[in-house]
Amino acid sequence: MLFDLHCHSTASDGKLAPAALVQRARDRGVGALAITDHDSVAAYTELSETTTRGLRLIPGIELSALWRGQTIHVVGLNIGLHTGAIEEAVSLQRAARQRRALVIAQRLARKGLGDLSPAVAELGERISIGRPHIAELLVERGQARSTDDAFRKHLGTGRIGDIKNEWASLQQVVAWIREAGGSAVIAHPEKYQLTRTRLRDLVSDFRAVGGTALEVVSGRQQTQESRQLAKLCAETGLAASTGSDFHQPEQFWAELGSQPALPEGCEPVWERW
Ligand code: AMP
Ligand code: MN
Ligand code: MN
Ligand code: MN
Repeated sequence: MLFDLHCHSTASDGKLAPAALVQRARDRGVGALAITDHDSVAAYTELSETTTRGLRLIPGIELSALWRGQTIHVVGLNIGLHTGAIEEAVSLQRAARQRRALVIAQRLARKGLGDLSPAVAELGERISIGRPHIAELLVERGQARSTDDAFRKHLGTGRIGDIKNEWASLQQVVAWIREAGGSAVIAHPEKYQLTRTRLRDLVSDFRAVGGTALEVVSGRQQTQESRQLAKLCAETGLAASTGSDFHQPEQFWAELGSQPALPEGCEPVWERW
């Protein structure tokens, strides 16, 4: 069966509504899907039984966490959606996202890029707001040529919109996932541009607080990187997960279910459920 355990809907920064996302996954041959919106599980309440029939839908979330001054994304899989832990996680992280988005809007306004505060406040009420939404607002208002351009100039690493001190700690995030009966997975470990030593430190801290797996295969990733991550799993006893990190149909390199297979020797995280 084809597993895709990482993707986004319109509940966060994805472009497809939950039902369309599920349909696209089916069309691509995905048999087991986890919708992992940023700090939100709202997509699951929108799905009807008819939409998901015949598909193994695995309840999931992608939580932003703070680890040694850096943002790390942790995917929670097989979680109890209606648990106190997930309710607390979602409510605290949502408030953090709303505050953060307003601070970013204020900083952009001070830079002479217009006042996005009302638009940001409105979006923050409806969805799990993040920098991609702010990037789109900048594009709509002619302040950036593209979302990439907006990230490059204002929102990406080291720019004024790069605010991370709002997130819960790695320890807290893993605890929430475990309390909800789920498995914690370090999302796209190659995306943080950590040195090998620092990646090992992350894995070590993650294991110490109860983390379960690494996302060994992720959307846009080199085979060599997956092999190294598989090796790290073998050395540390962590299981392996796989996910496209699909956000929108235009990003062909992160299409639903299109990631390569897990390297030989990995223990798939779903075999622990
Ligand atoms: P946030 O949740 O607000 O920290 O935003 C992170 C999200 O922004 C990621 O999940 C990506 O979907 C998106 N993203 C990160 N970097 C870029 C970039 N350089 N260009 C476009 N989107 C990005
Ligand atoms: Mn995203
Ligand atoms: Mn992520
Ligand atoms: Mn993601």
